[in-house]
Amino acid sequence: MVLMKISEVLSGKSNSKVITIRGWVYRKREGKNLIFLLIRDSSGFIQCTVKKDSSGWVEAERVTIESSLIIDGIAKPDDRAPGGFEISVNSISIIGLAEIFPISKDQSTDFLRNVRHLWLRSRKMNLIMKIRDKVLEFSRDFFRKNQFIEVSPPMFISAAVEGGSTLFDLKYFDQTLYLTQSSQLYLEILIYSLEKVFCIAPSFRAEKSRTIRHLTEYWHIEGEWPYANMSDLMNFQESLVSYICEQTILNCKNELEELKVDLKKLKLVKTPFPRITYSESIKILIENGSKLNWGDDLGYEEEKIIANKFGCPFFIYDYPTSIKAFYCKTHREDPNLAMSVDMLVPRIGEISTGGAREDDKDLLIKRINDSGLKIEDYSWYIDLRKYGTIPHVGFGLGLERLLVWMLDIDNIIDSIPFPRTTRRFYP
Ligand code: ATP
Ligand code: MN
Repeated sequence: MVLMKISEVLSGKSNSKVITIRGWVYRKREGKNLIFLLIRDSSGFIQCTVKKDSSGWVEAERVTIESSLIIDGIAKPDDRAPGGFEISVNSISIIGLAEIFPISKDQSTDFLRNVRHLWLRSRKMNLIMKIRDKVLEFSRDFFRKNQFIEVSPPMFISAAVEGGSTLFDLKYFDQTLYLTQSSQLYLEILIYSLEKVFCIAPSFRAEKSRTIRHLTEYWHIEGEWPYANMSDLMNFQESLVSYICEQTILNCKNELEELKVDLKKLKLVKTPFPRITYSESIKILIENGSKLNWGDDLGYEEEKIIANKFGCPFFIYDYPTSIKAFYCKTHREDPNLAMSVDMLVPRIGEISTGGAREDDKDLLIKRINDSGLKIEDYSWYIDLRKYGTIPHVGFGLGLERLLVWMLDIDNIIDSIPFPRTTRRFYP
């Protein structure tokens, strides 16, 4: 007897052979002389039929939805069965007989989110988590192909990266520390040793807003490297995102199909992405009736208006310095403009922010002072500009926002296994 994954059985390799599968009961239908069990494992579903005269009958009668089982039987093709194969059961051993499973048909999204620990067994979540794994793999591949080194920044930090209202503070023995909002400043330290670096790590934001694109804990794909300009930065980011989309189409065909993802949209992701300046984006908004003025930050509603016009990922760059963080490098010939760039997509708006970093010590100190931050908190950051400063760029891409867009997910909550929002932190 051979132990097999359900997907292997469905591939037809084990046709007419006696095989063993391990799984859980997804559905059960009882006839007079026949019981149908739809069994799932991590790889898929298969129909198992138990005849009254088989030795598995007594167990088949007893099993409940989500009971864990080991089943022996013969795999054979059957046009009526989902996936085209079924298992004719010889014997069943019940590993864990389940109590009445709380998730049945027609339950509200809210209920399903309250029983997240059980809902993660659903096919939908199973498929999203598999693609998430692949997107992480393709991201790492892309950085490595470009000679980047993966590094591990801290989550406990002593100074706020951007300061302000979205910072979580916490008691750290008898001091106050913060949860990191971005690993950028730590990547900036590491470029002086490793040059091209990236990390994929959690970032934390005390976001009170309840939107389809905000979590309080999310995974941030960040890269930082020297001797590059804004155009190199956009080239890199668009190549990364198009590589991820292309590889996902190639390697997750079945998952995308089952999730009914709009493949056309993913296939349209081709470099170069459109690029417009902040000033051009303001012009577009005013033409569309917006009351925004030059100098105002773009909110979700504004981003959506512009993004829907493009219908594909694109960049907005050269923002007003006044709405950008202290580390943003400014244009030397026009200090009111910061070398900052966002990538936006339809429906979601912003999915990444990047830019050139201020590499001049005196200008950096001025920006820290002007932002009302304490110089002492950033003395190590200023050191980087004292000892062999170099021009450099970097960006941060939100993994969950990318997934929400790629997979047409309604809410960012369903792009991560254990979402954290103002209201949700269980389990
Ligand atoms: P927003 O204006 O949408 O709140 P932001 O500009 O404050 O985002 P950045 O500091 O630029 O966010 O962070 C870089 C990227 O991290 C964003 O482009 C986004 O993809 C992701 N991100 C930021 N905040 C969140 C969040 N609360 N939940 C999920 N992803 C986030
Ligand atoms: Mn941003």
